[in-house]
Amino acid sequence: MTLDATHDTALRSWVESANLADSDFPIQNLPYGRFRRASSNEAWRIGVAIGGHILDLNLAAEKGSWPQKIAALLAPLAEGRLNPLMGGPVADRQALREALSQALAEGSAQQSALQPCLLPMADAELSVPCEIGDYTDFYTGIHHATAVGKLFRPDNPLLPNYKWVPIGYHGRGSSIGVSGQSFPRPLGQTAGEAGKPPNFGPSQRLDYELELGFLVGQANALGERLSMDEAEDHLFGVTLLNDWSARDLQAWEYVPLGPFLAKNFATTVSPWVVTMEALAPFRSPFKRAEGDPQPLPYLDSKTNRERGGVDIELEVWLQTKKMRDAGQDAVRLSRSGTAGAAYWTPAQLLAHHTVNGCNLQPGDLLGSGTLSGPEPDQAGSLLELTQGGKQAITLPNGETRKFLEDGDTLILRGHCQREGARRIGFGDCAGTVLAAR
Ligand code: CA
Repeated sequence: MTLDATHDTALRSWVESANLADSDFPIQNLPYGRFRRASSNEAWRIGVAIGGHILDLNLAAEKGSWPQKIAALLAPLAEGRLNPLMGGPVADRQALREALSQALAEGSAQQSALQPCLLPMADAELSVPCEIGDYTDFYTGIHHATAVGKLFRPDNPLLPNYKWVPIGYHGRGSSIGVSGQSFPRPLGQTAGEAGKPPNFGPSQRLDYELELGFLVGQANALGERLSMDEAEDHLFGVTLLNDWSARDLQAWEYVPLGPFLAKNFATTVSPWVVTMEALAPFRSPFKRAEGDPQPLPYLDSKTNRERGGVDIELEVWLQTKKMRDAGQDAVRLSRSGTAGAAYWTPAQLLAHHTVNGCNLQPGDLLGSGTLSGPEPDQAGSLLELTQGGKQAITLPNGETRKFLEDGDTLILRGHCQREGARRIGFGDCAGTVLAAR
């Protein structure tokens, strides 16, 4: 969590596009992703986003000159495997970040060797950034939990456990895709009229959820729980995450065991993992609102209270098929962020997930839950924006939406910005709904 030379706001890259003020990927960011040349059959390789380019670590390992220790860290990355770095010691990640920062900085002696290792992002096809193992989705967005709870229980929106235990369920890794993913509208059962059998067919209430994805770094052994102080070191980085949700399927199936087929037909993540090192300037105190209970001791630590949170600003954008056909750009549906919205910090999610001895592994993915802001127009789902589908929203071209329609492309965006730090971003997390099959 410490700041070092890699966070210096004065640092500039010889990759010119990285120095643009609005670039998501300045030299202070250096997120990892997995890519190959578009329309090629070459093996996936790991790269680092820098401005509008990707530094190909397969080529960079070969053409750059690196100290032995850095060369050893680059070896699995050159083979397209991010998980070994994720599962390694924090000091290794920091050392590699420092080496890459120096190599990409203005005035680096490596510039001429590494110049041929750059690929314009537009020429790349991206994959999910690592081998994702198990996937758990939490429910840390207190404004979302309150707003959704109100739809069902106006007088008692939050259930009694919410402020004590991080709520979550086990999702499915196999249907996680990367930005650019498209998927057919899911079919399933929905509640019938009172006393009648359920209906079956394509979901009529398809929704998105604005979330973050926390990727696990170092593993913990089965039976060994992580303390709050250890948990932070077991986090590798953060992506944007869209937990696509079929609300009508969900309402019928969720009792009594929670979400199932309403959630596991597709989950989209952004291609670049922004590391915990890059997020160091944007950490924030964890505090409870007046009158709320303090966490149990196993979910509490001094470091967490001082800087367990991460301040990330988030946006949701929509481009309908009609807009796309007319050459119109996506429109913003809402803005929110983690500040004040996430009831638990990432370290608390890890400490809680492992408190029973459950083992987490490098590349496991933990969803934050929907991060809506406190105001109705800061909602991170259509369920909230349209009050359960009762009040349609109207788009600038006159189209209306209660839930997503076929051909809709939904885009999540996020960035971190703070006085005294260089703005960093996450890149797009986009996905498109296709007609049911
Ligand atoms: Ca969710």
